Amino acid sequence: MTGIVYKSTGSWYTVKTDLGAMYPCRIKGKFRMKGIKSTNPVAVGDRVDFDLDHDNNEAPVGIITAIHDRKNYIVRKSVNLSKQTHIIAANIDQVFLLVTIDNPPTFTSFIDRFLVTAQAYSVKTILLFNKVDTYQEETLNEVRYLAHVYRKIGYECIGISAATGKNIDKVKTLMAGKVSMFAGHSGVGKSTLVNAIEPQLDLKTKAISSQHMQGQHTTTFAEMFDLSFGAKIIDTPGIKGFGVVDMDKEEVSDYFPEFFALKQDCKFNNCIHVEEPHCAVKKALEANEIAASRYRSYLQILEGDDEHFRTEEWMK
Ligand code: GDP
Ligand code: ZN
Repeated sequence: MTGIVYKSTGSWYTVKTDLGAMYPCRIKGKFRMKGIKSTNPVAVGDRVDFDLDHDNNEAPVGIITAIHDRKNYIVRKSVNLSKQTHIIAANIDQVFLLVTIDNPPTFTSFIDRFLVTAQAYSVKTILLFNKVDTYQEETLNEVRYLAHVYRKIGYECIGISAATGKNIDKVKTLMAGKVSMFAGHSGVGKSTLVNAIEPQLDLKTKAISSQHMQGQHTTTFAEMFDLSFGAKIIDTPGIKGFGVVDMDKEEVSDYFPEFFALKQDCKFNNCIHVEEPHCAVKKALEANEIAASRYRSYLQILEGDDEHFRTEEWMK
């Protein structure tokens, strides 16, 4: 049989078949994904094969026998085993990054770090500028400017209000038939948005109850939910962020799409776009084709000066 992992508690997995039946599943013995050193071999979002074990006349239990190839996955560093990672979720179609201009402020350095990480994990990001109902003209202009900057480099941007329902239908249309996640600083409106999208689903309560479950051996807890209009969301209560991707200096600009597009025009093929002569990225920056804020974020990431990217809670 085959199905998708909806929930994982460390030793048990809840797997849902395409027909909608839910089975508790386990893994027998050592089960490792090739090339990934993680504390959990199977993650929420994984498509798995399993055999049903009817041994003792009790409810059937599945034994996971194989994991299908992942389209992508996001990890966080394991706290106790420094070298190992924990896979938070797999096969994510898109992450909606909620951004607010104030209350709380979302800095472009944060947005850019997020986008770099998501890009490195091959996870598509859509920017949602929330709380537009509260903004005066000046702040709305800021939203328009940021939307322009990010649209130009290929990211979809939508101004929304989770409180009034503005453009929520657009978000739902993008979500239909896909697996989505929501991210953003604490207070940007993730819970309010999920409520506006699907009022029956109260993730906030679940987040609180799952904290109790985190007690002993479960370090991370993620869960997938089916929404009424054919969308799936993965909720990750208690997870404060994607793991920071370790990357070489030369690699960072590969995850800035507008820098990457110019790379072949730089004189040196290992150009990191800082001090090198005849750098196409610097030239584009001087011509205002690359936003100054993007280049500033790039330098911050290169220099590892990214303290405030990590300090705040930004994923629910
Ligand atoms: P979370 O921490 O990201 O889940 O944020 P919440 O959903 O808890 O929202 C934080 C606060 O912002 C709450 O008081 C919400 O009522 C408020 N809020 C969320 N979205 C909007 C919005 O679109 N407009 C307004 N005016 N308030 C909002
Ligand atoms: Zn260059």
